[in-house]
Amino acid sequence: MDVLERSMEILRAYPLCDSCLGRLFAQLGYALENAERGSAIKTLLHMKLVTEYRQGADVSGDLKSLARVHRPTRRFLASVGVAVEDSQCYICGGLTSSVERYAKDAVVQLSGVDFETFAVGTTLPREVLERESEVVKRFLISTGESIKHEINRRIGREILKLLPGKKVDKQRPNVLVRIDLVTGKVDVVRNPLLIEGVYLKLSRRVSQAKKFGDVKASLLEKLAHVRDLYGGVEHLIHVSGREDSDARMLGPGRPLVIEVKNPSRYRGLPGRYEDGDVIYIPRGFTVREEIRRLKDKAKTDIKLYRALVYSENPLTETDLAKLGELTGKTILQYTPRRIKRLSPRKRRTRMVYELAWRLVSPHVFELYIRCQGGLYVKEFIHGDGGRTTPSVAEILNTYLEVLELDVLSIE
Ligand SMILES: [Zn+2]
Repeated sequence: MDVLERSMEILRAYPLCDSCLGRLFAQLGYALENAERGSAIKTLLHMKLVTEYRQGADVSGDLKSLARVHRPTRRFLASVGVAVEDSQCYICGGLTSSVERYAKDAVVQLSGVDFETFAVGTTLPREVLERESEVVKRFLISTGESIKHEINRRIGREILKLLPGKKVDKQRPNVLVRIDLVTGKVDVVRNPLLIEGVYLKLSRRVSQAKKFGDVKASLLEKLAHVRDLYGGVEHLIHVSGREDSDARMLGPGRPLVIEVKNPSRYRGLPGRYEDGDVIYIPRGFTVREEIRRLKDKAKTDIKLYRALVYSENPLTETDLAKLGELTGKTILQYTPRRIKRLSPRKRRTRMVYELAWRLVSPHVFELYIRCQGGLYVKEFIHGDGGRTTPSVAEILNTYLEVLELDVLSIE
């Protein structure tokens, strides 16, 4: 392709500034800014046309087209008695000439935020994008860069100059600098920070997020120090599954992701936290997709529970041995009565893989249950008035009450 010939065709149709002309050929050359490329093209066209004019060729039309957007050509035409007015760029109307100035405003807004990575996103007037696409389509441009891309890149580079050491990360920036070129407004979005880790719950009076009944604290409250460490305004926890507030979570713990909204710090991990009720062990920063993975995983996890159970009828070792029948069984459960849901008759089936038991006294026994995640374990034990079947109570043919429940491990 002859860049000069093509550029002349385009300039006959549209007056374009250096940036907008150069951007149509952005993929040609290396380490050139679009404005330099556009200016070089115009200089070459100018040299060619002036030479041809002097040799007597009739290039006055092309000279006038070029002169609309090229000062040396206007001067040349003026010297031979032809006056040409300069024109505004058809695509950007002059918008691209000084986008760097927005960087300063962005840097002011970023002061006080301790971040590592950023990205720039600009909103352009719709007409600019429409006119750009008109030119690209009409001349079947396949070597260009979008105006949005150029502007984001240039402002990003300017911010890097002002804040050396920061990095551009378009996929997962800590902060997003938003520039609205319609209104001239600059603002900064501080993206949430996600920290993965595990927790253990040693208390039977700690819930996950909401407080109710005789719950004395929630895990969410106990992790508020993580929000404060990063100077956030709010924090959420995303957990793989859930245990009842009166159940302990022991063993290696349960995975969770803490989300800190609007942080003003993006560096440094919190330390291990322990207060007698809960233990929190942070592992590192993570990404949003991990939360979905965590929630999906809860459905397929294998869990090991320990329960201490009271039986109304006295039991013997022989009675308990019947529980072997439940090994490898699929348990059918209707949503437990204690859980208020919109669809109270929802059905679920979960597997019980293995059971082990120990008689503590005629009325109390300990039960170990290895099962699929999502099994309502208390209901599996007491049967929930027949809403869960088969159940431990059904097999033992007695009324049962779960005195204690612990999650021992999540495989
Ligand atoms: Zn332009």
